[in-house]
Amino acid sequence: MSQHLFTVAGVEVDTRHHIGGARVASAETFTDVSPIDGGVLGEISRGTPAEAGAAVAAAKDAFPGWAATPRAERARLLRAIADGIDRRAEELAVVETADNGALLRSHRRGVMPRVAHNFRFFADRLLALDHEDFTTRGHTNHVTWDPAGPCVLITPWNAPLMLATWKVAPALAAGNTVVLKPAEWTPLTASLLADIAAEAGLPAGVLNVVQGYGSEIGDALTAHPDVRRISFTGSVPTARHIAASAAAHLTPLSLELGGKSPLLVFADADLDLAADLAVEQYDNAGQVCLAATRLLVEESVAEEFTRRFLARASRLRQGDPRDEATDIGPTIHPRQLERVDGFVRRALADGARALIGGHRRGDRYYAPTLLTDVRQDSEIVQEEVFGPVLTLQTFGDEDEAVRLANDTAYGLAATVATGDPDRAERVTARLVAGTVWVNCFFVRDLRAPFGGSRRSGIGREGGTWSFDFYCDLKNTVTAP
Ligand code: NAD
Repeated sequence: MSQHLFTVAGVEVDTRHHIGGARVASAETFTDVSPIDGGVLGEISRGTPAEAGAAVAAAKDAFPGWAATPRAERARLLRAIADGIDRRAEELAVVETADNGALLRSHRRGVMPRVAHNFRFFADRLLALDHEDFTTRGHTNHVTWDPAGPCVLITPWNAPLMLATWKVAPALAAGNTVVLKPAEWTPLTASLLADIAAEAGLPAGVLNVVQGYGSEIGDALTAHPDVRRISFTGSVPTARHIAASAAAHLTPLSLELGGKSPLLVFADADLDLAADLAVEQYDNAGQVCLAATRLLVEESVAEEFTRRFLARASRLRQGDPRDEATDIGPTIHPRQLERVDGFVRRALADGARALIGGHRRGDRYYAPTLLTDVRQDSEIVQEEVFGPVLTLQTFGDEDEAVRLANDTAYGLAATVATGDPDRAERVTARLVAGTVWVNCFFVRDLRAPFGGSRRSGIGREGGTWSFDFYCDLKNTVTAP
């Protein structure tokens, strides 16, 4: 077997880059390990600026042909990729679980169907994409959505293929070519996607995948003069770096960043529903950007809510994510576990009290944790932990609830549990967040705008907003 082919959970994965339709190896590799047991999954090509530059060059070469490809043909190829994803859904699910440790049952039932849907949705959307014609003193204004050029798409490890395809599909639909750089902790499904796209007949160079560390190849991608769009999902510090790097050529950016979202529980809420919503925040071991990690509960029901929450949380089963009965899997990497534990230890030293958890379970798992007696201005309330750690605070009235909810630097999402529709409307209007859920959580429609306010990001993607970002809009004015 080639030294670049690794068998992961029974699936063969090529660990080289995919550039201009060919597999390209770097001189050096890095080791990809599974969060489940620390086992080695593969030796991955460790990209250098040379390979990053070659990928952008391939995307640039392929751009004119792809941009000129009729919409119907682009849509057909996107659907063929979706079909390929469906055919290999089980392989993608087991490889993704091996690589990032998220639950196999959710990869099977929720994530991989959604990954295929990302391609079908944007294929449909492309065909429905309309321009607006209007006249000015007899002159016709004709607005078109022109492809922008090569796009660099940089993604994190917490939902690798979901987040990658959420960007790749609209970028390709828009007529752009792509260089995708997955996170170094989860390089595998991006490589499989490159195979699937090639098998579907996507022309060489239209979708390129480069592997490697952001700190080593990031600038070669984001400061490249031929790149016309950068879409990044990840952390705030990396976003700052990328924004500075993109400034060299004023490359348009879309940034989907972290959050510290609240769940507001009012006394008139269905407390069983509210407790269910709160416990759901431990999904993916808390490694979800949208997670409502700050539980804000009206004083008069705080005791009863806490009782119902703890009853549910104590039933959660933590363990191997491949096991159907598991609710919470491992943390992505021992370094992340250390980070999560650091946040909790500093909070406890600062006077917080753990109602549940507050410690590791071995060297890969962090116990689901709920901290109370936390100060509003403390690190644990203000900073994203990205682990199964929630805080509990109480409020006296609606004004205080809104004030606490909005009092962080983030603005990604918020969830409101209330039985009063008028209250829901009043509170929602005052919350700073890209998405607000009322009596529900994580219901995502691809037609909706998605993104964050304040430090949670810049711009919105989803539905037509994705085309706004990935296209150069052009208005042609013709005399009568
Ligand atoms: P990260 O910022 O460390 O890394 C994200 C990606 O950026 C990786 O591919 C990494 O290799 C790359 N990168 C690192 N340095 C770079 C550089 N200098 N130039 C270019 N690329 C570089 O984030 P992470 O730890 O992988 O992901 C977790 C973060 O992502 C959390 O903050 C989470 O909230 C956020 N996130 C946001 C959303 C959203 O939609 N808003 C979704 C998922 C995750």
